[in-house]
Amino acid sequence: MSSASSESKSSSASTGAQDSTAAPETDPFLTAQRQLDEAAGILELDEATHQLLRWPLRELKFVFPVRMDDGSVKVFHGYRVQHNDARGPAKGGLRFHPHETVHTVRALAAWMTWKTAVIDIPLGGGKGGVCCNPRELSTGELERVSRGYIRRVAGFIGPDSDVPAPDVYTDSRVMAWMLDEYEAIHGRHAPGVITGKPPVLGGSAGRGDATGFGVVVTIREALKALRIDASRTTASLQGFGKVGQATAIHYVNQLGGKLICVSSWDHEDKTAYTFFKHDGADPAFLRGITDSHGTIHKDKALQAGYEVRDGDAWRSAEVDLLIPAALENMITAGTVETISPRVKVLAEGANGPTTREADQALRRRGVFVIPDILCNAGGVTVSYFEQVQNAYNFYWPEQEVLDRLDEKMTAAFHVVHAMARRMDVHNRLAAYLVSVERVAKAMKLRGWV
Ligand code: NAD
Repeated sequence: MSSASSESKSSSASTGAQDSTAAPETDPFLTAQRQLDEAAGILELDEATHQLLRWPLRELKFVFPVRMDDGSVKVFHGYRVQHNDARGPAKGGLRFHPHETVHTVRALAAWMTWKTAVIDIPLGGGKGGVCCNPRELSTGELERVSRGYIRRVAGFIGPDSDVPAPDVYTDSRVMAWMLDEYEAIHGRHAPGVITGKPPVLGGSAGRGDATGFGVVVTIREALKALRIDASRTTASLQGFGKVGQATAIHYVNQLGGKLICVSSWDHEDKTAYTFFKHDGADPAFLRGITDSHGTIHKDKALQAGYEVRDGDAWRSAEVDLLIPAALENMITAGTVETISPRVKVLAEGANGPTTREADQALRRRGVFVIPDILCNAGGVTVSYFEQVQNAYNFYWPEQEVLDRLDEKMTAAFHVVHAMARRMDVHNRLAAYLVSVERVAKAMKLRGWV
């Protein structure tokens, strides 16, 4: 999928929903199953365990009506998938995206199972989405979509069964409406049903930046392992939403690295642009000229001396670190060759940004890949902390949250790194070996297999 085709407006009266139209290389669920298969072979999983892990335990697929501002009714397609809950309640974000399919949601739910296991928190994996373009919705319509979604899933989710959180094009405001709808339906407070809430409604301090903060912790540990001085590195980032912005800020402020370029999707022009500053981009300045959907204001960037290039230019930038933080399939067999030989580390802020073919090509080139299920696990980790705080109705200061997050991410990085060295396998497979073994053990102890 090229950058220019990765986002587009959906303007039909119904929002259209498909299972999957992706080619095998870019089919995220097939990718997720193949990643599991590789680990299952090495772990010699029995057939029943392997098959149970290849498929979601449960999924809900539905349509719901929403009254639009002009009085018409539009029908939206929604999904919630629980991939596995052997280790604890299913956990995973909710996407509002015009190209959302149940197939992508299945893949994202499976990756959540591996993510919660690799970071070692007592949760399973789930994911959800609505096929819609939030950019085309008024605030009132967005609220009615959020509440309409919860009315369909209110019996399927819960603090002890399945806990949503923000993901692409959803945020703390959407979580607040969803929490309110869920609590109205059930007639009681239940803050633990959803995470990434505004702090005043029980959200955790530090949740907003948690994923990006965690990405930077794994980059820091990877650079240490490679004996590279972080303060002398340069980076290129794709996607300037929640994860991208926080990653940029922490990479520059904490590691002292130089961010050479950032690509962002331009909703007006329906294409992506890459913003270059060779003496180092200023993430705080860029955040200040970015709208709530992650679009950097082109003219303001030009005025500030940024060079604006096409949306794919982030991938071929001459840097040490590549950080995809947008969507799936941004590095494919067809584009991997454009990556500069200078790149030493690929930090997967996004879920599934690299296809299997591209992954293999990067390995042949000796690029150190920090796999998504480890790299971007900071968000779900602080979501877990949020649930713990909700259960106690007692809240931690931000520094305590970040210190605990750092500890969890650092420990998980080293468990995976040690596994990679012990088994002489690549990092992604090592992360799968750690997580699949943990989930399989929980299933066995429960007597499922
Ligand atoms: P977001 O919606 O806040 O940001 C994503 C941004 O990427 C948007 O601004 C979008 O316009 C942009 N984008 C899309 N296509 C692009 C392209 N071709 N070129 C440049 N920019 C493009 O979403 P987010 O929460 O930051 O999520 C980003 C990724 O990180 C997703 O893969 C998500 O699943 C993953 N993730 C998010 C979290 C979280 O806590 N939010 C946690 C773990 C993983």
